[in-house]
Amino acid sequence: MDYDVVIIGGGPGGYAAALYGASAGLRIALVELTKVGGTCLHRGCVPAKEFLEAAAVHRTVRHASEFGISVGEPTVDFAVNQRRKVAVVDQLFRGLTGLLRGRKVTILSGTGTLLPGRRVRVVDGPDAGTEIAGRHVVLAAGSVPRTLPGLDVDGRHVLTSDEFLELERVPASVAVVGGGAIGCEFASLLSDLGAKVTVLEALDTILAGCDEEISAVVARSFKKRGVEVVTGAQVKGHSPASDGSRTVVHLGDGAEVEVEAVVVSVGRLPRTEGLVSEGLVSEGPRVQLDERGFVVVNRLMQTHEQNVWAVGDVCAGTPQLAHVAFAEAILVIKGILGEPMVPVDYERVPWAIYCHPEVAFAGLTEAQANARGIPVLVKKDPFGGNSRARIIGDTEGLVKIVAERLGDGSAGRILGVHMVGPWVTELLGAGYLAVNWEATPAEVAQFIQPHPSLSETFGETVLALTGRGLHVG
Ligand SMILES: Cc1cc2nc3c(=O)[nH]c(=O)nc-3n(C[C@H](O)[C@H](O)[C@H](O)COP(=O)(O)OP(=O)(O)OC[C@H]3O[C@@H](n4cnc5c(N)ncnc54)[C@H](O)[C@@H]3O)c2cc1C
Repeated sequence: MDYDVVIIGGGPGGYAAALYGASAGLRIALVELTKVGGTCLHRGCVPAKEFLEAAAVHRTVRHASEFGISVGEPTVDFAVNQRRKVAVVDQLFRGLTGLLRGRKVTILSGTGTLLPGRRVRVVDGPDAGTEIAGRHVVLAAGSVPRTLPGLDVDGRHVLTSDEFLELERVPASVAVVGGGAIGCEFASLLSDLGAKVTVLEALDTILAGCDEEISAVVARSFKKRGVEVVTGAQVKGHSPASDGSRTVVHLGDGAEVEVEAVVVSVGRLPRTEGLVSEGLVSEGPRVQLDERGFVVVNRLMQTHEQNVWAVGDVCAGTPQLAHVAFAEAILVIKGILGEPMVPVDYERVPWAIYCHPEVAFAGLTEAQANARGIPVLVKKDPFGGNSRARIIGDTEGLVKIVAERLGDGSAGRILGVHMVGPWVTELLGAGYLAVNWEATPAEVAQFIQPHPSLSETFGETVLALTGRGLHVG
């Protein structure tokens, strides 16, 4: 075999497998059709968070006069921010490429196709025609945006996240189709930067995967800031105006929304076209794809083909998150090295949504625990009483912790930690650890939170679960 591991796809799943494997001394080849870094670095997490930071700067400047600092009404030249985003991404891209080269990972450019016998052929691009074989192959081809019937992406009126993140100008009015994590991030930043935003969500709530009280805080904040949220919305299509300046979005109940742009954020599909040669897909139980094209894996990320693994967004039934792809990549390399493997516990992975107010959580929601018949104790502490939140002038939100209720009425294991409010994406660490350690409030309450800090709200909620909160009953 030419390599110990051949990886197809250089996003978070692929490059984490390459870096982790190479640092363990494995010979690695990585086939990437565009640029290493994948969706996350070039069309996802990083550019989206850079846009959100521009929105945060705008909010800060707008409220500067409250601190006695006069800067006047802020104006937005989004082309400047677009250039800044490109610079941030480029720097990280160069760093990543340098890391891979430094660890002697062979990078091949083009589309990789898996052939029988764990051979991989590069079928196009600069390295077209190259064929290599690996003792193991990792499929890490990731995903692409999905759209809806009637909303063909034209890059002018109808955009997916790919086109949205290339914008040089903030449209005056936008319909965001889909009120999930990405849709809410886009709605939040667009509104902060001055666009009139309407969120069209098919379900009866935005952020449907979150604890109800948490998503309700975001919904209230959106309402206060003038973001219109239409739930139960069935988007049927759109009719662009003849001068191309606007389009009218048609909803199932006959309602219409006139906007400059429609941003579709309704989930992502696997990028499996051409990933596996026909023979492997059709000849019995080898690399299996589900009905939507996702690669079927077991809990150890093994496909049905021996020594062919898959990680990240391309896998069926796993959360599409960059850090989940990292964790799966590390798991696979451990498996290849013959080390003990602990499957990723998808119910307890951290989730972070960077809209304003931010959302972060790990573990079961109150409703999920109730649905499983687990008796629970729940405590909440709003950021309104937190001194740091008052100091920074950002008091919207709360921490909510769900713990198992023991027979004597006291709190057992912490099952879920749910946060909404200032910087909670950076605060989740302690909650994540508590959930995954299966710690009890009595244990976690021993730890001291610095004062004044936003993390005190987490500490206070934990203390309340012991039955003796300082501020929360
Ligand atoms: C707008 C947006 C915001 C997001 N924000 C967050 C966030 O804040 N936090 C978070 O955790 N996640 C976020 N995500 C999700 C995150 O980007 C993905 O979960 C992550 O990128 C998945 O990594 P991956 O390696 O599986 O796939 P990808 O990142 O999609 O990478 C796959 C790579 O494989 C390459 N490839 C595909 N097919 C082939 C082939 N046949 N041959 C060679 N190369 C191939 C592609 O070019 C690509 O580079 C966001 C996504 C979007 C769209």
